[in-house]
Amino acid sequence: MARMLALRVRQGGNNSARTVCCSVRHFSLPAGSAAVCKEQISSLYQLPPLPSTLYSLLMDGLLVLIIGPSGVGKTVLTRMLLERHPQWTLARSATTRPRRPGESDVFYRFVTREEFTALAEEGAFLEWATVHNGARYGTLRDEIIPALDDGKTVLREVDVQGLASIRHHPLFRRPGGRHRHRAIFIAPESPEQLVAHIHKRAPMTEEELQRRLASVTKEMTFAAQCDATVVSREGELAAAADILEKEIRGTTL
Ligand code: 5GP
Repeated sequence: MARMLALRVRQGGNNSARTVCCSVRHFSLPAGSAAVCKEQISSLYQLPPLPSTLYSLLMDGLLVLIIGPSGVGKTVLTRMLLERHPQWTLARSATTRPRRPGESDVFYRFVTREEFTALAEEGAFLEWATVHNGARYGTLRDEIIPALDDGKTVLREVDVQGLASIRHHPLFRRPGGRHRHRAIFIAPESPEQLVAHIHKRAPMTEEELQRRLASVTKEMTFAAQCDATVVSREGELAAAADILEKEIRGTTL
């Protein structure tokens, strides 16, 4: 859908103003390139440079929430998309859980309990929750909002609880929220296929297999809450990344 932009411009220091209307779709833009849009509009309509607040209104970014059962390949797919689109960003969470051996700072900002409490008190989180083993996890506002204001595409892996919290947030509420978001569910071919795949990598007992199968089957129902589903087939990650990319690019300018 093309979005119309009306600019009132004062020229040459006199008081005569002219209104310029242009369709944002008119500009063929790589996703997230608000700065390019700003320059194109300015030069096409011979306008003075546009203020940042204005171009962030017309080139709002997109928050992409990636959801799906564990082991389905969300992290690998996210990394593949970030390699293909270096201008997209990944929103990290803050967590109090200990860093795992060899784990980098790419997905999490590791903080102490005291630091987490201080961040919560100063309003640094869009949402936070105690997830398991008493560890706290929080969505960092600064990892998302400035990038969206700059027209960027921001990727974020969340669980269904995180999806619900973000959707209830006034900034992302539909309708009326200031920012757009799109929730994409990554599904395996079937729960059995995913559990067999996990079992191949890390064998488990029959009891654990049945438990995992029940949990994946339940998680599959969350697809209905998302805006789109991408099936990740065994051995076809690149194809899944292509479809995911199309789902995202279809909603960015
Ligand atoms: P892990 O520590 O294994 O990476 O993640 C454990 C769980 O924490 C996952 O279910 C993940 O979705 C959840 N999680 C990660 N970051 C956040 C966050 O910012 N907020 C919430 N509510 N959950 C999160």
